[in-house]
Formats: sequence, C-alpha cells, structure tokens
Amino acid sequence: MFENKLVIELLEKYRVLWALGHASSLMGWDSETYMPRDGVEERSVASAELSLLSRRILLENIAPLVERLVGAEGLNDFERGVVRVLWREVERLRRIPESIQYELAKLRSEAPVVWREARERDDFEKFKPYLSRIVELERQVAELLGYEEHPYDALLDYYEEGLRDRDVKAMFSTLTPAIKRVLERVMGEGYYPREHVLESISYRREAMEAVNREVLDMLGFPWSKGRLDVSAHPFTVSLGVSDVRITTRYEGVDFRRSLFAVIHEFGHALYDVQVDERFKMTPLARGASLGIHESQSRFWENVIGRSFEFTEVLKPILDKHLNFTRDYSVEELYKYFNIVRPSLIRVDADEVTYNLHIYLRYELERMLIANEVKVSDLPELWNEYMDKLLGIRPRSFKEGVLQDIHWSIAAIGYFPTYTIGNILAAQLKARLEAELGRLGDLVRERRFDVIREYLRERVHRWGAVYPPRELVIRALGEPMNPTFFIEYLESKYLRSQG
Ligand code: MG
Repeated sequence: MFENKLVIELLEKYRVLWALGHASSLMGWDSETYMPRDGVEERSVASAELSLLSRRILLENIAPLVERLVGAEGLNDFERGVVRVLWREVERLRRIPESIQYELAKLRSEAPVVWREARERDDFEKFKPYLSRIVELERQVAELLGYEEHPYDALLDYYEEGLRDRDVKAMFSTLTPAIKRVLERVMGEGYYPREHVLESISYRREAMEAVNREVLDMLGFPWSKGRLDVSAHPFTVSLGVSDVRITTRYEGVDFRRSLFAVIHEFGHALYDVQVDERFKMTPLARGASLGIHESQSRFWENVIGRSFEFTEVLKPILDKHLNFTRDYSVEELYKYFNIVRPSLIRVDADEVTYNLHIYLRYELERMLIANEVKVSDLPELWNEYMDKLLGIRPRSFKEGVLQDIHWSIAAIGYFPTYTIGNILAAQLKARLEAELGRLGDLVRERRFDVIREYLRERVHRWGAVYPPRELVIRALGEPMNPTFFIEYLESKYLRSQG
C-alpha cells in the first residue's frame, strides 16, 4: 500500500498532526455533549492554540516533504492520495496568514454562543457584528486563496474539492424548476399529508432511546467502535477508523425527529468505520468530501429510512417501545415519515422542499462573498427568497436568517454539499438497484449487511484516496447528475404519472 520511502517518512511525520486532530475532534465532541456551559471561554482559546500548533507543524515539518513528492513519478494511487490531501492543506495555509487563521478559529468558538443567544431572543442586531466580521474575513480568505471566475469558488473548493460556482449554478438550474413542479403536484394530489396527528404525540425519552438502540442494532451499528449520545443538534464525529460517535436529540414529541437523526448520523458513521483499516492515522482516513459524506447519511435517512419497506421493518420495533404507534398502520406511519409541506426551517424540511432551502442559502452566500449585498440586507433578502421559492414568509429572525449555525462557525460555501449529497444518494440507489435488484426488497428482508458491504466496496473503503469527482465516476460509473434526484422524487412522490 505505502511503499515509497519518502511517503513512509511523510506518514511518520504526519502522526503528530493526526494526534492533534484527534484531540481537537474529541474536544469538539465534548463541547457539544458534556462540557459545562462556562467551559466555552477556555475551550475556545485551547482550540485556537491547537489549530495554530497544527499549522506550524504542517508548514514547517511536513510541507517540505510534501513539496518533494508533488508530481513525483511512480507513486501508486494511495501514495498520490496522501500527497494530494496534504498538498491541498499546505497550499491553503501558506496563503492564509496566521492572524486570520487565529481570529477565525476563535470566532468559530465564540460566535456560535452569541448566535444561540441571538436566536433565542430573536435579535439579529446582536449577531450582526460577528457575522459581518466573519463575512469580511471569508472575503479576504477567498481573495488570498485565489479563484478563476467567482470568489465563491475559493470557498466551495474547501468543502468539496474541485467544486465551482458554475457547477452549483448549473445544478440548481436543473433542480429548482423541477422541484417546484413536483411540489405543486404532490400538494395537489394530497396523498402525502401536510401534517399528521403523530407530530403532536409525546413520547417517553427512555422508550425512544430503546427504539434508537434497536434500530441501530438492526442496521448494524458497530457498538465496539461507536457511541450514541445527546446534543442540541445531531452530528457525527470521527476520532479514527475505530472510534466514531453520533448524537441525536430527544424533544419529547414528534418522534421521527429523533429517529431520523439517528439513521442520518448512522450513515455518516458507517462511512467512517468502513474506511480501509490500513489508512488508520493517515490523511486518507476520512471521507472524500462533505458532499460524498452527506450522500451516505441521506441514503440511509431518506432513501432507506423513509421508504415504505423500511417502515414495515420498523413498525415492530416502534410498537414494542412506543405504545401509541400500535394504533397506526404501516401506511399511516409511512405518511407521517413523509409529510410534505413548504416550511420555514431547513432541518425540518421534507425531501421534496429541502433543496430549495439550500438554493436560497447558496444565492445569499455568493452575493455576500462577491460584496453584492451587505449583512444588514440579509433578513429581508431571506424573506423575499422564501416567498419566491416556497410561498411562505418568516415572521421572525429565528424562523429566517438566524436559523442555521453554519455562518456562526464561518462555514460559508458548505451548504451546497447538502444538495450534492441528496443527488448522489438518489444516484447511488439507481446504481445499486441496477446491480443488486430492488433496494426495497433488500430492506424488507433486512439484508442491511448486503447494503453495507456494497457501500463499503464502492465508496467507504477508499477514504480520501480519490478526489470526489473521480470517486463518483469510479463508484457510480458516471459523474453526478441531478436528473437522478428528480426521477427519485417523481417515482416516490407522484401517484399519477404524466
Ligand atoms: Mg449530515
């Protein structure tokens, strides 16, 4: 696997950088799960200091070796992957001065705290100075990194290697009108409800925890390599190939929110634990990109989790722990899982409308970065776009511009990867079915082992060896194509054809 002497030397030197990343990830996980509230100040300084230490180690000890290997002949795919991943980081950090990196790292810890308070109090003015500074810094970062066509390109590339504004624009110009068309017909047909009585039924937390554990057992969650904890916003953190942690939330009502968060994060965790063991502690032990990662979580959450067949295998588990579900048929539960309605909050959005929320954020971000709009214009612009895309208008900042954490952690250019994930999940289903037969049949027979193995073989085991575009072609036989997602929506959500 790794044979080149210089690459082996590089990987040995990389070990300390990996260890710092391991510590930072654990600190990040702790911040969202068990850290007492007042720990935030010291934690944010500690995180920023560690990020500077990593930077110095990368630029001083590792960069010279990477530089000798860039363009070297005779490297195998794995070795080239190592060099590619590290060279991207070296090039990026060489262009961003330490002062900007430090300020951004500190803001990533502080601004979310302010954002949370601002959202609670519905006070945009409180968050505005932080967001203005973050946007200013991100504009500088884009200029420092450089781009060919649009400053947003520089930010997109960080989350999704090779992604450009023109690609995102093309993706949405196919998706947006098609989604609006499907949405209108789904609403007209009325089979999928706009609301469901199960949304307002309360559950006991212990009962829901038992459901979640049993669902994870059924899907094949590797408990010796993972944990399930609780956080305000569900997430997955990977500390290594053998230590992957997921979280969910328990709000006490509308149980699908807790359940589908678990299934979503299971998809992320499965990717991380199915990376080739031999990549342990190397730069390859990570997903190929955020978009590819999200395709895995969306595949399990939506394509599998919200299917009729999955509802069938889920029902006995639900009935065992949540008494009230016994009063509802599989079809009723299926409808509850697949409520379709234009809504204000992205994280609650259904499969049909979800990508319209992303399109809105994409438009606002690219205008912000190009200096075409000001931070103070955002609330009104947000509302106008909601009206235009979904025909509804937020009545508060928390239902509008203040709803997402992303801008407070300076994650500008991140949102489009969610839509990439949705498209690739649908595309993966089509490919899997062409090779293995109907996914619904595998689900009904609980052959989750077969599905896990297919994903491992095609996607997971490769880690970051190939850039995302190349991995997609290798795994799915062709580049990403939004048409798969539109066809998926039409075949699932439209009852009458034509
Ligand atoms: Mg996700």
